Amino acid sequence: MILGVDIGGTNIDVVLYDGKFVHIATYPTQSTITRLNDVLKELVDEYKVDAVGIGFAGWIRENKILKAPNVNFKPDFDLNVPYKLDNDANCFALYASHHFKLSNVLGITIGTGIGSGIIVDGKVYRGMGLAGEIGHWFVGGDDVCTCGGKGHLECYFGGWSFKKRGLNAIELVESGEVYELEDFEKLCICVANAITLLDPEAVVFGGRIGGSLDEKILRERLYRHLMPEFRPKIKTLKDPLAVAKGACLMVMK
Ligand SMILES: [Zn+2]
Repeated sequence: MILGVDIGGTNIDVVLYDGKFVHIATYPTQSTITRLNDVLKELVDEYKVDAVGIGFAGWIRENKILKAPNVNFKPDFDLNVPYKLDNDANCFALYASHHFKLSNVLGITIGTGIGSGIIVDGKVYRGMGLAGEIGHWFVGGDDVCTCGGKGHLECYFGGWSFKKRGLNAIELVESGEVYELEDFEKLCICVANAITLLDPEAVVFGGRIGGSLDEKILRERLYRHLMPEFRPKIKTLKDPLAVAKGACLMVMK
């Protein structure tokens, strides 16, 4: 039995995996995060869990959180079973690869910030740990990013950037106005560049904002920046439990 946990800025989702995924709990992050280790220990005992996978929106190297630009806490774990802590976008990409049965996938998560996970031949590509931080690609300008850098993609697209400018991301997506923004063009240029770097079978968008984008528009706008030889499938995956499910798969690898 595997436990998969997605620690988001608002909620913590927990799923169990034993051949199939079962959603067992959702906790509010703020009131749970300081006692999360005890909560997980209780679940481990209750469900006789063998290992725990944890997805977290942070820069993680060897089970250690180096930085978490969009979350104001860094949880510590001391569980009685083996566990793996991984970047939430890596977990998302792994689940997307499993879900669509594709082994070369670029997963892009757009929620509060922008993350990406790279699946090469069915495995997560991490580089030295931090590979895939597409949200922190330099796209120009002096706007200060949550990571401390300037002019990063996240300064223009994603939850915190829209909120800072008094814009409602979901409303922009639902009305279609988002596609008219120069900021959307910046996102497409970055993703198109990543496609030429990786030549994936598919690019899968997820997260609260990314999963709600229109596949057809994304495809058309991304292809505009690509040589015709590059034609990956462009998909969205709107599953709020994708990271928790991917965290289960991660710990089984
Ligand atoms: Zn940044």
